[in-house]
Amino acid sequence: MHDFLLAKEIVDEVLAIAAEKKLTAIKSVDVEIGTIALAHDGFDEHTEDIDVENLQFGLENIAKNTILKNTEFKFKKVSGDNWKITNIEI
Ligand SMILES: [Zn+2]
Repeated sequence: MHDFLLAKEIVDEVLAIAAEKKLTAIKSVDVEIGTIALAHDGFDEHTEDIDVENLQFGLENIAKNTILKNTEFKFKKVSGDNWKITNIEI
């Protein structure tokens, strides 16, 4: 579940950056993924392991109708909380 919610968060964030910088395409995005705590479906905030394959699948689905349709997302699992974009190549 968190993989798909995270996919949406990542796409939203990258689209916001693209809009701000007036980019029309992005070649690749590097993302570091730590432990993702989320509240959803009536449950309090909790952590779940992120499955990178599910994350990739979710991202492709959400990104396909946006300027990110050809963007390559590269993930690195790290220790620590949350996630962050470490590099964007245009
Ligand atoms: Zn959950």
